[in-house]
Amino acid sequence: MTIRLRAHHLLCLLTYVGKGYSPAFTANYDAIAERLSRGEDILLVSGPDDVCAPLLDEPELHCLNDSVIERDRLAARDVGVLLARPIRAGARLSLDAATLASLRAAFSAGVTREACQGCEWASLCTIVAAGGYRDVRVPTL
Ligand code: SF4
Repeated sequence: MTIRLRAHHLLCLLTYVGKGYSPAFTANYDAIAERLSRGEDILLVSGPDDVCAPLLDEPELHCLNDSVIERDRLAARDVGVLLARPIRAGARLSLDAATLASLRAAFSAGVTREACQGCEWASLCTIVAAGGYRDVRVPTL
């Protein structure tokens, strides 16, 4: 199986601790986090992905907003530079321990956080990173 992710969710999964928009959203995210933790492959997509799925019927859908698409662009740019590989729709990636450690080190250093500007979860993500990623659902093994 393959998990479909949009680029900025490569950052969000680093600090996911089980909090989110709704119980359905976090239940779905928990299942994805477990699959990612088992090393399942990621397919990069543009626009709404497997994490967004429970939100797609909501009237106030933000997943298609220009600001979120810009978030993807910035995350793809910075993660691509960090990992020295193109992060774009159609690319495949797997999160081994070294990749997760590299992503988390860069996130903590602020190298990949331009994409987080204006995000309502930014404070929580900063706290999780500052706490050494304790209790994250996709741990660095
Ligand atoms: S601040 Fe927002 S965009 Fe950045 S990692 Fe956290 S949830 Fe994702």
